Amino acid sequence: MRSAHIDPHRPHTGPAAMSLTARQVAVQNIAEGARNRRSPAAGSSASLPEIFGQNVFDDAVQRQRLPKAAYRALRATIEAGVELDPSIADAVAAGMKSWAVERGATHYTHWFQPMTGLTAEKHDSFLNHTSDGRVMMEFSGKELVKGEPDASSFPSGGIRATFEARGYTAWDPTSPAFLRESDHGPTLTIPTAFCSWTGEALDKKTPLLRSTQALDKHAVRLLRLLGERADRVQSTVGAEQEYFLVDRRLWVLRPDLVHCGRTLFGARPAKGQELEDHYFGAISERVLNYMMELERELWKLGIPIKTRHNEVAPHQYELAPIFEHVTVAVDHNMLTMELMKNLAEKHGLACLLHEKPFAGVNGSGKHNNWSMSDERGSNLLDPGTTPHENLKFIVFLTAIVRAVDLHQGLLRATASGAGNDHRLGANEAPPAIMSIYVGEQLEEVLNALIEDRAPSSASTGASASELRLGVSTLPPLPRDTSDRNRTSPFAFTGNKFEFRSVGSSQSIATANIVLNTIVAESLDHLSSEIEARTPEGAGEQERGAVIQELVRETLKQHERILFSGDNYSEEWVAEAERRGLDNLRDTPRALEHFASETNVAMFAEYGVFSARETNARANIMLLKYVHRVSVEALSARTIAATSIVPAAAAFQEQLARSIKAVTEVAADLDVAPQIALLGRVTGAINSLQAALGELELAHAAEAAHAGTEIARARHTRDEILPAMATLRVHADTLETLVDDDLWPLPKYDELLLLD
Ligand code: ADP
Ligand code: MG
Repeated sequence: MRSAHIDPHRPHTGPAAMSLTARQVAVQNIAEGARNRRSPAAGSSASLPEIFGQNVFDDAVQRQRLPKAAYRALRATIEAGVELDPSIADAVAAGMKSWAVERGATHYTHWFQPMTGLTAEKHDSFLNHTSDGRVMMEFSGKELVKGEPDASSFPSGGIRATFEARGYTAWDPTSPAFLRESDHGPTLTIPTAFCSWTGEALDKKTPLLRSTQALDKHAVRLLRLLGERADRVQSTVGAEQEYFLVDRRLWVLRPDLVHCGRTLFGARPAKGQELEDHYFGAISERVLNYMMELERELWKLGIPIKTRHNEVAPHQYELAPIFEHVTVAVDHNMLTMELMKNLAEKHGLACLLHEKPFAGVNGSGKHNNWSMSDERGSNLLDPGTTPHENLKFIVFLTAIVRAVDLHQGLLRATASGAGNDHRLGANEAPPAIMSIYVGEQLEEVLNALIEDRAPSSASTGASASELRLGVSTLPPLPRDTSDRNRTSPFAFTGNKFEFRSVGSSQSIATANIVLNTIVAESLDHLSSEIEARTPEGAGEQERGAVIQELVRETLKQHERILFSGDNYSEEWVAEAERRGLDNLRDTPRALEHFASETNVAMFAEYGVFSARETNARANIMLLKYVHRVSVEALSARTIAATSIVPAAAAFQEQLARSIKAVTEVAADLDVAPQIALLGRVTGAINSLQAALGELELAHAAEAAHAGTEIARARHTRDEILPAMATLRVHADTLETLVDDDLWPLPKYDELLLLD
């Protein structure tokens, strides 16, 4: 990069050298190693077990701080889902307060997850007056259990009219309270659900909790039909989080990154990810400092971060926790994203959680690893080694196959959004078509069950006889990482499913609400079928035969959803269409049927969403798409009009003057190539201006749109996004023509390769 070599201390001649652009100064600082490095946090010599969970009001602290009766009642609520006795709230609040105050807290907050996809909080101090005019710290059970943040400006999708605008927060005892630290002390943070006065959910936590109840109920019911002793089933989730880091000095010079989280312009860099030298590569010292401080902060909050590595694209990384119960996993992922962003700032970095910050470079997702476990921690998707464990595994697997096939569209919709549209259905992992990968061996087992034959020994590596569920054992299933299909959106990886469509910036709540609900529906269906088909007084063998036949029929009905091939290939798109699978390429398509009659009925039946709530969600998601693209359109317009056009015009003038100067000196010199260049630059400027006009028209039409949410979303997709794409083409052309010294925006190679 030429600009990096300009020395600001030495006087330069020539127009470009007269003053350095902000971009050049930033690049220069980075090149000179002014790293803005942050040394490891003080006190970081403490060992992991010492710091893990130190800011959490967890089991150990609860035991220590609460009266015995209150402790027992609280644990029963957390572990067995027993409704909390309101009379213990005062005791729990007192214990929480004394713990928090000893640690320096002056405030508490009810922390919740409105439908914006972010988190929200309103802080109150413990401050209160005593009768003799002094102050004291107070926190009552009432304040713990219920908050009234009002918060009438959050989206409700029409659920709340302003006259009934008040919402309230309700303590969620299943997710532990914690202390969030700042330089001036910690804040007691209490995870809550957020509802309207009429009891309708205004957040992502409430339906998530409801969906766990539905799953619990029907999983326990099916387990009992299979002869198991089970009291409680919960889903377990581990979310692998991908992200980019870029230098903050460059980031602030990209208004598109600052306002939209992604670059709206940028020509392809000379070196992208083609060399594949970043994946699992050595982590740079600066990034490692960031990661280590981040991990320590997350550990303090009891978030079990386990893995860190470089990802495929330059400056792309991943972190992953050990799985937890779904509600805690969701809260922890929200906190993780929040800390990732905040801490990056302290390290002079910007953390990009957007699904596609850079065109032509791999995007970021969030692999939502999902399974179910009973109260003893036994994983229901562990194939096991005994005939009985195998039976349980196959039946639950069958339920999931059925659920995903029946509700492909709904599952796809949970990963929809303006950002993720650049991944799903855009030639990148994973596709918008939902399918399940179970691995070659397991697929052969399922096929054998469907066809009522023995699995082929060639593929299972063992000579097997015909599979009799509950009687024979499955051939050993490998848990080998090498044969995993990385292109599948929904892959079985040994003892869990990995749903890979979720976008890196998205809350995993929606995906898990839907997974829990659709699997609950299938478990309910299978249970009812088993009950209906088993004759009165049937023995174990007879029931076994009923289950075998039910599994066979169900798998046969839904086998089209199983696919082991390359999900990125053109052939799969055609094949999926032949199979009748949905290919919902973008957000308007994916959300069009979110509130279909079937979905509304299912959510209502399992007590997850009322009809009004389902409709509200669909509308909020559609409007979010419209608004996000609208912000991008405005940002693109401003950058193009006020940064790119002036830079290009300056270069145009520079060229014209140079041509004139040369011809004045020597009229016979050939300046035709320079004139041609001037022509190309002028052409690109003119095209850019025309594209700007088109974008403005499309955007103004959206602002004036009086149609439904879906109509507005379609307009956004069909008019605004294409206009932005055209604008970008001309801007990116200019980037490759205009004098580098004049170009205002940090370029892709600077954003992605400097560290
Ligand atoms: P990989 O995907 O490379 O195989 P891991 O097996 O370590 O990596 O798992 C990735 C994520 O899946 C981790 O967050 C892990 O805790 C989570 N995971 C493992 N087992 C389960 C499970 N039973 N339920 C939910 N998540 C799980
Ligand atoms: Mg994985």
